[in-house]
Amino acid sequence: MASVLILGAGYAGLRTAKLLAKHSPQLTVTVVNKNAYHYESTQLHEVAVGTREPADITFSLRQALPKNVDLIIDEVVKVDREKQQVELAHHEPLSYDYLVNSLGFESETFGIPGAEENGLPLIDIPTALAAREHLEKTLAHFNESHDPNDLRIIVCGAGFTSIEYLGDLVYHLPALINQYHLPADQIKIDCIEAMPKVLPMFSQDLADYAVHYLESHGVTFHTSTPITAINPGVVESKESSFKANTIIWTTGVKGSHVIADSGYDQKRNRVVVQNNLSVKDHPNEFVIGDVSAVPDPDTGRMYPTTGQIAIAQADVAARNIRALVAGRSLTDFKFHSLGTVCSLGPTNGVAEIFMMGHWKLKGHVVGPIKKLVNDRSVLELSDIKTMLESN
Ligand SMILES: Cc1cc2nc3c(=O)[nH]c(=O)nc-3n(C[C@H](O)[C@H](O)[C@H](O)COP(=O)(O)OP(=O)(O)OC[C@H]3O[C@@H](n4cnc5c(N)ncnc54)[C@H](O)[C@@H]3O)c2cc1C
Repeated sequence: MASVLILGAGYAGLRTAKLLAKHSPQLTVTVVNKNAYHYESTQLHEVAVGTREPADITFSLRQALPKNVDLIIDEVVKVDREKQQVELAHHEPLSYDYLVNSLGFESETFGIPGAEENGLPLIDIPTALAAREHLEKTLAHFNESHDPNDLRIIVCGAGFTSIEYLGDLVYHLPALINQYHLPADQIKIDCIEAMPKVLPMFSQDLADYAVHYLESHGVTFHTSTPITAINPGVVESKESSFKANTIIWTTGVKGSHVIADSGYDQKRNRVVVQNNLSVKDHPNEFVIGDVSAVPDPDTGRMYPTTGQIAIAQADVAARNIRALVAGRSLTDFKFHSLGTVCSLGPTNGVAEIFMMGHWKLKGHVVGPIKKLVNDRSVLELSDIKTMLESN
């Protein structure tokens, strides 16, 4: 029986495993993931602010995976591509006939001094919980220290993750102010962005709506302000210094370091794959999700790395592995976006939807849409029972 080894059980890996197990019972499918659970990374900002608990956005992999899929909980260290083996931190190396590398994203610091040491990233459950603990401790500490910087929060970057974090933060702040008896008028939130535009993936009117909404809830935006360094309690740019004892680092992501460690030809730990998602000269290796860079055949530009695209890539990778095994020709990846939804807290947001036309939505109508998207993701990746439990 041919063996398929899937690295990482995020959106891409978990979906691939489920499809192969369902449609190709003749294959031996093994998944390696460092945790026994899957987490909805699209909702990490909610755990980081405290509007959701980790249990709300995680579910057991063993329960979600079909019985005919083997699950190994361990950390992937390296892929030995010549030997067709994967080195793990605590188990013997695993051999494979077909490999799906879907190890996902890590925080990107762009080499900015002090970003790693002094910024709080949101990349998994431990980092989201660390950001939340830091925020709450620092706010509470103000009552002893009377240091105004304990009441200041800086969010670095104004892309999707930063704006979703800010949306939940301004929603949840009144509860924190109440809980820790804080002076509301002294709380200061700054968002610092190198580019001139906030939320560049949205049309200008929707980005403006998000900015106005957040500004009306106390956020100050500093666009065209590249960060040059982060020191403890201070974010430096060319022209100004911004002080705060909570610094959230959500400027961007790169792929898993395992990509570079395994000798792939890569940029920011992303492998430029062929249109059928396999790696050039390694037809039995598929790289999908946030570790891949996939050219859009229409524009020649790389698709963005999103959960939606990771899931769509899993469909094509699974189909192409089945085609290789059966000796059929492979399918190219082509993505048709259904749209993008950015939350501004649980009840507000902006959305651009491409279904039966082009819809631009903003305000409270977007809250239920975002919930629907999240629920659908949990529904597809786990099962109905898990989705109902998560609400
Ligand atoms: C706060 C936030 C909000 C977002 N919102 C959206 C959104 O609304 N819509 C959207 O489409 N996208 C969104 N994204 C982007 C989306 O989360 C990613 O594009 C998506 O998670 C990529 O899926 P993936 O399967 O490639 O990787 P991941 O989800 O990163 O999964 C990788 C898996 O591999 C495991 N792993 C990593 N390294 C190892 C190792 N060495 N050994 C073993 N296991 C390992 C991880 O634990 C994880 O389970 C958001 C991201 C963030 C952070």
